[in-house]
Amino acid sequence: MLSVVGIGPGSLDLLTERARERISSADVIMGNERYIELIREIIPKGAEVITGRMGTEVERAKKAVELGNRKNVVVVSGGDAGIYGMAGLVIEVIGDFDMDSKLEIIPGITAASASAALLGAPLSNDFAVVSLSDLLVPWSEIEKKLVGLAKLDIAVAIYNPKSKNRTVQLEKAYEIFMRFRDLKTIVGIVRNAEREGCKIEITTLEDLPDFYSHIDMSTIIIIGCSGTKNLGGRMVTRRGYERKYDYREKEKASEQGNENYIEAGNKIWEKSKAIVADIVAKYSSSFSEHEQRVAGRVVFANADPSFLELLVFNHNPVENGIRSIKDGKTIITDIEMVKAGINKKYRKKVKCFVNAPKTMEIAEKGNVTRTAAGIRHAKELIHDNIVVIGNSPSACLELFAFVEEGIKPAIIVAAPVGFVNAAESKEKILSSGIPCVVVKGARGGTPSAVAIINAIIELSMEEGAGKTK
Ligand code: SAH
Repeated sequence: MLSVVGIGPGSLDLLTERARERISSADVIMGNERYIELIREIIPKGAEVITGRMGTEVERAKKAVELGNRKNVVVVSGGDAGIYGMAGLVIEVIGDFDMDSKLEIIPGITAASASAALLGAPLSNDFAVVSLSDLLVPWSEIEKKLVGLAKLDIAVAIYNPKSKNRTVQLEKAYEIFMRFRDLKTIVGIVRNAEREGCKIEITTLEDLPDFYSHIDMSTIIIIGCSGTKNLGGRMVTRRGYERKYDYREKEKASEQGNENYIEAGNKIWEKSKAIVADIVAKYSSSFSEHEQRVAGRVVFANADPSFLELLVFNHNPVENGIRSIKDGKTIITDIEMVKAGINKKYRKKVKCFVNAPKTMEIAEKGNVTRTAAGIRHAKELIHDNIVVIGNSPSACLELFAFVEEGIKPAIIVAAPVGFVNAAESKEKILSSGIPCVVVKGARGGTPSAVAIINAIIELSMEEGAGKTK
């Protein structure tokens, strides 16, 4: 008889009775050293114990099948033996050949359910499970799954998030979820669930990197979804009862006010977007579909359709922009206000040097404006990156001078504003040969610049994860 037994997360009182019974009547017990340790006290005296390290699973499975023909053999796996455990491998090793004796798989409490119970009830609605271990599965496949899951609004339990030698996978997974999920999504982290050293933490998606040092091989991460809440320190994913029944009177009263105004806001936003899309489609048919999206944002931000006559897209800037954002290129802005307006999900990649001490020095020495000095300070960074000018004509002229020297930004968004030099500086950018989105004339400003770059960022996110480095 060969039994593949899930021993649960660690604590022996979470072992099923059936598992306990098989272990106590085993002639041979096989398993990873760590799991054997966890059940050491219930291993019968006469039983032969065969331990193996990670990486020796195939040998162990073969041996188990062979011994199972003659003896009562128990192969133990942590959690559930059928979830990233030994059960599948044993069945594969047996293949099409009939075993002389019986094979049984005994389920156990998997890390996801043990940890969910410690956190509260984060898996109360649909959820998925994914392993970040690329020892057996190529990373490109895992990444595709992560993108798919991040796009779905369901909770995701992440197994094997990190080990001593595998740390970047978690960072990459984080970036993917940041791209598609709300920053405030509730995240639970459980280390050593139901074992010595158990640690339970609840945070939000955006703050997950602060917890990297607490995450190891014995940790599971549960990323919630929009229905997941932190209620009094417990992580719970709502299943929909609250829509049907009234059982949270107090909370509901305060929250409904909240939801009402959010909904009202959403309605206005949707209506405005529809109006703008209509206008753009009618008056700027020469724009590509993506350019129309960008133009729509500018019209929307200014509540002014006349911007359609001022917008120029030269050398395919939107597609170049989308590619650059996907490649994680840096954005350089002329003023802090433009930086502050850029989509939070990309803001880490935005730089503005206008207030840097060195910028002051450059301005004084070179007798140039501070915004121009800020661009000069950024000179080394400009090549192949994105520059967004939302305010300063002199910054725009400075940028043009660098382009003339041979520096080539990936794209330029030029929307400086004013009666002095604004229009001229933008004509220069238009003649530069660099992919650019320009608001011609004296008009422009932060809202236009931010609208343009945010639309490009949004488009790049809609197109998926793209290239990884
Ligand atoms: N068969 C096991 C999973 C094996 S994969 C099960 O069903 O639970 C190993 C991964 O499971 C670990 O890297 C970790 O992410 C998770 N894990 C296993 N036991 C855990 C525990 N006690 N606490 C937290 N995570 C655990």
